[in-house]
Amino acid sequence: MKFLIHTYGCQMNVRDSEAVGALLVAAGHERVEKEEDAELVVVNSCTVRDKAEQKAIGKSGNLIALKKYGKKKMVGLMGCAVKRMGADVFKALPDLDFAVGPRRFGMIPRLVERCLAGEKRILEIPDEDEVPEGLSAHSVSGFQAFVTILLGCDNRCSYCIVPDVRGHEYSRPAREVVAEVEVLAKHGVKEVCLLGQSVLRYGVRNPAWDENDPPSPGGYTEPFPRLLEALSKVEGLERIRFTSAHPKGCTDELVRAYAEFPKVCRHLHLPVQSGSDRLLKEMGRRYTREEYLTAVKRLRDFDPEFALTTDIIVGYPGETEEDFEATRSLMEEAGFDNSFIFKYSPRPGTRSAKLEDDVTKEEKERRDQVLLSDQEARGQARNNLLVGTVREILVEGPSLRNAQRWSGRDSGNRIVVFEPDGNPPEKGSFVKIEILEAHPQILLGRRV
Ligand code: SAH
Ligand code: SF4
Repeated sequence: MKFLIHTYGCQMNVRDSEAVGALLVAAGHERVEKEEDAELVVVNSCTVRDKAEQKAIGKSGNLIALKKYGKKKMVGLMGCAVKRMGADVFKALPDLDFAVGPRRFGMIPRLVERCLAGEKRILEIPDEDEVPEGLSAHSVSGFQAFVTILLGCDNRCSYCIVPDVRGHEYSRPAREVVAEVEVLAKHGVKEVCLLGQSVLRYGVRNPAWDENDPPSPGGYTEPFPRLLEALSKVEGLERIRFTSAHPKGCTDELVRAYAEFPKVCRHLHLPVQSGSDRLLKEMGRRYTREEYLTAVKRLRDFDPEFALTTDIIVGYPGETEEDFEATRSLMEEAGFDNSFIFKYSPRPGTRSAKLEDDVTKEEKERRDQVLLSDQEARGQARNNLLVGTVREILVEGPSLRNAQRWSGRDSGNRIVVFEPDGNPPEKGSFVKIEILEAHPQILLGRRV
């Protein structure tokens, strides 16, 4: 069948969709670019905030409506919203062909066969500890790839539904990860991004290394830095990124790995959520404002240009003006290069859903806007410091906004835009760019 996958949510979903695409192709189906050409559409859903879930369900409903006119043969829903909703998903979408939770995406080619054979409304909900099949299925088309290293989450932050829908933490064996990256590199991948909800907890719940693995040549004892060490030896691979990180795991060994392995990019997405100790405690984040800022200092003492990005929640239940101002000042002290601000959304079954969602919609909106405008100024100031520097960038291709210009990213994941001057470099190659102009979210420069 001609198929297309429509993805909502985080990079984990992007990666899961990519694996499903590769598995469907391997099963003889044909990927198409345009939605109107697809007979089968799979919607990969997110449920982290209510709005995200609504979007995926709404989209699926629209696609299902097209079945009546013979414009679609089959519509499937996968991902986090399926696990949250369970059988209720068929109340919202009665004519959905199949629904499959996050850790069972590998079954999709078989579910498609079953639907073709006449079954309807198939529901597959994974257990908390299930290890998916198809984790290492890729259809490599470019020079960048996501690699899942850690499934699930055991942190249980008060507001977060992720542990309920993505299950318990499971670290993939290091040998499996290294083998997967070696194959990717052989197919021309230059940059991998290792994925997990809390990648620095790699190897904590279940060991990722076993006694048959050789000891770390550099004397690393923590499993994640040890993985970085092993991956940095993969031939052909040039850059290693990873996301997301929990501040608890920002150890001396991690900083040593940054210093020792040039392939490890100098950017960390380190969600802080709030700058108020009172709220951090309520959220169950297990660090204080000071501990967070100490982690930041460790990274910036090592490299002042180290890029840091974060996630913030505004309007958590009981968030006062004082709490909010504490978040503002923490963001300034940490000097985030970029930040993602989310308005609190109560999620069923989480601890904070029992609290009154007492910050008004208008106030959440105001706080969101204040932080966005702070970040704009801060991003500009941070980027101004880079004018005059020469940055090595991995070329991604013509810029999205202006196809006359080309863009790529530096080690800090900053977008760098330049004029190709009639002689565009190859996509996936490295070029050196001197920065001439800074904006809050991008840098402009010329080739040197
Ligand atoms: N595992 C990642 C985060 C995954 S969810 C981490 O902890 O680093 C992505 C972001 O969504 C979170 O960092 C948080 O800022 C936001 N988020 C999660 N639950 C939310 C909720 N109920 N309301 C608003 N934002 C939420
Ligand atoms: Fe959610 Fe916290 Fe786990 Fe991140 S670390 S996925 S915010 S519970």
